[in-house]
Formats: sequence, C-alpha cells, structure tokens
Amino acid sequence: MEKDIETILWTEEAITQRLTQLASQITADFKSTPSSPILLGVATGAFIFLADLVRNINLPVSIDFIRASSYGSSTLSNGAPTFALDLKLDIQGKHVIVVEDIVDTGNTLYCLIAHLKSKGASSVSVCTLLDKPSRRKVKFELVGNGKYYCGFECPDYFVVGYGLDFAERYRNLPFIGVLKPEIYK
Ligand code: 5GP
Ligand code: MG
Ligand code: MG
Repeated sequence: MEKDIETILWTEEAITQRLTQLASQITADFKSTPSSPILLGVATGAFIFLADLVRNINLPVSIDFIRASSYGSSTLSNGAPTFALDLKLDIQGKHVIVVEDIVDTGNTLYCLIAHLKSKGASSVSVCTLLDKPSRRKVKFELVGNGKYYCGFECPDYFVVGYGLDFAERYRNLPFIGVLKPEIYK
C-alpha cells in the first residue's frame, strides 16, 4: 500500500495532535447543552476519525452512522449523493455533529444538512478532518447554533488513508497521503 503513496501530508502523530484539540473544543462547546450531542459519522470514510475523536470527547455522546455515496470507484463526484443507510436514532430536538472525513464540493453536506433539518435536529454542526475549500461548489449552512470544526485544510490532491479510500482500498493506512496519479489513471 505505502508504495502507491507519493507524499505523506499528515502523519499519524499530526492527526492525533489535531484531533485532540478538536475533541477538547467540542467538549467545551457542548458541556452545558441540556442534551449531549449525537455524533453522526458519514460512512465509510469517517469511521476511523469518529472512533479516535469520540475517545477524546469528555461528554456522554451518542453515536450513529449514515451512508452517503457519490463517488463509486472514480475520483470525481457525480454531484448527487444518496443516503443508503438512514439514522437509527431519533434526532428530533437534538444537537447533531456530522463527522466527515473530507469536505470537497460541499454537495454531500448540503444534502445531509437538509435531511437532518427535516428530521427536526435543533442544531447541526460539522466536524471534518479535512476541507478542500478550493473545490467548493455548493455553500451549505449549519442549523441552529451549529459550529464548524475542521482538522486541516487540504490542498487539491486526491488523498487516501486514515479512513479515506480509493476504490475501497487504502483506508487502513495510519497516515493521510497523496496517491500516485498512475494508480487511478
Ligand atoms: P463532496 O460531496 O463534498 O464533493 O464530497 C465529499 C466526499 O467525497 C467525501 O466524504 C469523500 O468520501 C469524497 N472525497 C472528496 N475528496 C476526496 C479525496 O481527496 N480523497 C478521497 N479518498 N475521497 C474524497
Ligand atoms: Mg465522506
Ligand atoms: Mg470514497
């Protein structure tokens, strides 16, 4: 797997350090809300980030997953994500923190936030490990007093590792790196 990586952008240590800061911020921001937040991981990409993040949040959080698919095995978004797996928890009147691996065009979050709003969430925040602002096509708005937490700004490369895949591979790399272009060409 490592041989297919051109450059490492964030090591395991760098990710852990940043994630600890995000978790402390979330703990501070939600410690006095009447109901503790629901962390909603966007499957599959967010599974490792969510697992590491929640173990650093010092609040009695609930956890759920939703599945959004827009990529298939290509590196280009088709722009219309579908939600294949819906929430298990009732989010009516609850604070939801969507946990994402990466925000790219913004399509997925735009649709997901509308979905969570229609289910009556009292606030929707977003905690994403990576954000590629240079690729944004759709502007999404948070709900209620929702906050935006972001680990790192990502340059416009296709990255893999720490949950992020190419054609369902590389998710188990402990770091985040740029895939050699010859792999997906
Ligand atoms: P958006 O809907 O914002 O365009 O795309 C969000 C989703 O696209 C992410 O959750 C992720 O699954 C996928 N994605 C966007 N950029 C990358 C990337 O550089 N690497 C990988 N592996 N997935 C990406
Ligand atoms: Mg994702
Ligand atoms: Mg993917």
